[in-house]
Amino acid sequence: MNRSYTYDPKFHEPGSVAAEGLCSQHGRDGADRESCTREAVVSFQDRHDRWQSGCSLALEQLVERGEIEPLGEGA
Ligand SMILES: [Zn+2]
Repeated sequence: MNRSYTYDPKFHEPGSVAAEGLCSQHGRDGADRESCTREAVVSFQDRHDRWQSGCSLALEQLVERGEIEPLGEGA
């Protein structure tokens, strides 16, 4: 399980979707794009160690799947 961080553009590659404060998680898998708020609230590394950003829905889903820790824990 990966750590999660309060969204911070410094983690993300300049010019990327994530660096602009938008959710990159749903940009990728698309399935929940309609319920995506687009606003990044969390920064995390995916299983390939790439930095991703997620909206509140993405955070909920990733925690549920055991991919990242709930925000604010394990600091
Ligand atoms: Zn999203």
